[in-house]
Order: sequence, then structure tokens, then C-alpha cells
Amino acid sequence: MILAHRIMLLPNNEHCTFFKKACGVSRFVWNWALAEWSRQYKAGEKPSAFGLKKQFNTIQKELFPWVGEVNSQAKQQSFADVGSAFSHFFRRVKKGEKPGYPKFKKKGKSRDSFYLANIEFKVDGHYVRLPKIGRVRMRESLRVSGKIMGARISREGARWYLSIQVEIAEPKPKFISENQTDAVGVDLGVKSLAVLSTGEFIDGPKAYAKNKDKLARLQRQLRPGKRKRGSRLYKAYQQRVSTLHRKIAGQRNNALHQLTAKLTQEHSLICIEDLNVKGMSSSAKGDVEKPGKMVKQKSGLNRAILDMGFYEFRRQLDYKSSITGSTLSVIDRWAPSSKTCSDCGGYKKDLTLADRTYTCSGCGLTIDRDINAAINICTLGARGINARGQDGSANC
Ligand SMILES: [Zn+2]
Repeated sequence: MILAHRIMLLPNNEHCTFFKKACGVSRFVWNWALAEWSRQYKAGEKPSAFGLKKQFNTIQKELFPWVGEVNSQAKQQSFADVGSAFSHFFRRVKKGEKPGYPKFKKKGKSRDSFYLANIEFKVDGHYVRLPKIGRVRMRESLRVSGKIMGARISREGARWYLSIQVEIAEPKPKFISENQTDAVGVDLGVKSLAVLSTGEFIDGPKAYAKNKDKLARLQRQLRPGKRKRGSRLYKAYQQRVSTLHRKIAGQRNNALHQLTAKLTQEHSLICIEDLNVKGMSSSAKGDVEKPGKMVKQKSGLNRAILDMGFYEFRRQLDYKSSITGSTLSVIDRWAPSSKTCSDCGGYKKDLTLADRTYTCSGCGLTIDRDINAAINICTLGARGINARGQDGSANC
């Protein structure tokens, strides 16, 4: 399995100049190869990535000497990319589809990037050593261990990113014990980010809530009538709003990553509810077949998850459990997780959202309602796994 770890770079001016040049080479070679491929094809020849590369090499020194000023893979990979673009194109044509013809890259319009072969760079702590320019600082160190396959440096606005492809070994599935002692059920929180069947409450980041209020305050400054659109002050507020937006997105992302990392590292079986966040907000009333029960329960669903989307939470759990060898079990969203007693299985019809504590009239259990729900999710998830084996792919 190949994972990509994307790390922000902290280059100096000299590095940036090199990056821009390498992106330029990558784009130029792509465009050259694309034009040449089309020309040869029209002339009835059989162009290939390898043939084009050989042809280019014979004229490079004389016609395009500056191509040699950057790492050689910035050039080489573009031939391979044109080759695979065409094989993809012809494969789809064969299937009877109508694919778009490979396009020329335009400066400033197409995404700037260039490729590095694994022998061209070396990662060392917070630094990456690159050909021609030496060490460039990275925002964080490479956290994935395995065989480094290659990397791509790309630009987003004024920022540069290094995306490293690492091949990791398929993990051995973690053993799921008979009594599921290390299984966990997760109830996505109404008040906390999440509540676990182990009794743990995972709080969302405090700074996040604070910034959320601050964002609302700033946005009020941009209301029509409050300030003249396009004025100096308006623009300044606009700038602050977009900076804060980015910060909040980062905090939200961090909180989710921390939660999903903890779950996949500490537990062999992770049970979650299949929440359709989008459906929840649109069908508040529900209908006869699917009364809007979940909606009411989850209407205060922690904003961090609501904003990110449940799919991001599930996506992270999915790929992280394939790294740690955990199993993910997703239970049906209409399973009665909140109103069932996690101890005796009794059902409490009249439990409302205001009831923060679940008190069972059958067995006398008194427990926090979210922990009760998390335990039920865990039980249902484990039952589903036992019923269908440890593949964890299907819904129960
Ligand atoms: Zn009970």
C-alpha cells in the first residue's frame, strides 16, 4: 500500500526560484512531448514516452540547455506522464467513452509541480535534501515509515508542499479477542467531540470554539451597510476573515486527526454509527418510515464533525485502521443506540434529548446517556463483526 504524506516546505528565496524553474521545466517538457506525440501520431507514426525522451535528449543541450539546470526527474517524469495520459485516453476511447484529449499546461493556470525520484532527495528530520539546492526546511518531519518511492513538489498560492509517496507494509490484522476487551464504540458528541464506550469524553479543541465566536464577530463587520465594499477597511477585515477561516479549518482537522489516530492505535475494533450528516440537516422532520429521531438527537452534533463532514471522520478511520490493522465496524444509523439500556437491553421510549442521564427502569442502571449510547454502538458493532467475519467492510 502506498501512502502520500504531504508536508509544507519553508523555502528561502533561492529555493523558491529553483522550484519555479523546475515547475517550468516540467511544464515545458510536458507541452513539448504532447505536441510531438500529436504530430507523430497524425503522421502515422507510433510515438512512445521512451522514444520521445530519446529524441528530446539529442536536441536538449543545443536547444534547451536550461532544462539541465534542475533535477533530471522534473523532465523525465513529464515524458512518463504524457505516456500514461495517452494510454489512459486510448483505453477510454476503446471502451466507447469520450475522454478529453490531454491538454497543454498553461503558466499560472495549471497547477505548478515537479517530480523527484527517490534517489534525488533525502529526508532528515525537519529537512529534505534536494539536488542543486541542498537542505530545505519542512514544517514537520515525515511521520510515515516505509520505503520512499518518490515525491512531488507543488505550489498552492504562495506556499510550497512536498508530497512524499511511501510504500508501507500491509499490517497484520490486530487480533480481536473473543470478549472484545479492546473494542471501542464511538458516539459522536452532542457536547463533546466524541464519547467512547470506555467512558472517555473527547473534547473538541477549546481554541476552536473561541475562534468560531471571533469569526462571527469579524463577519458582522462585513455586513452590507456596515462598511463600504472594497474600502480599505473592508479589505482588511476580509483578509482577517480568510486568515481565521484557514486557522479554524486547521484546528478542526487536527482535532479529528488526533481522535482517529487515538482510536486506531489503541483499539482493535472500532464501532461507529453510520451518520449521514447532510441528510440530517435536510430532513429534520423525517418521514413515516424513517422518523427524524436521529436528527433531534444529533442536532447539536459537535460542529467540528458537522463542519468536516462525517465522511472525513470515516475516511480517516478507514485508512488509519488499514495502517494499524484495526477493524472498523459501521452500524446502521437507525439502530436504537440511545434508548436501549446497555446493561439489560431494556428499551426506554420516552428518553428525550434533555435527559443527560439514562436511568433504566428495568435493572436500575444509571449512566451518562452518551456513554450508554457508545456502549450500545460497541455491542452492535461487535455483533456485526462476529456475524460476518473480520472483514469489517459491510454494514451490519
Ligand atoms: Zn437496564
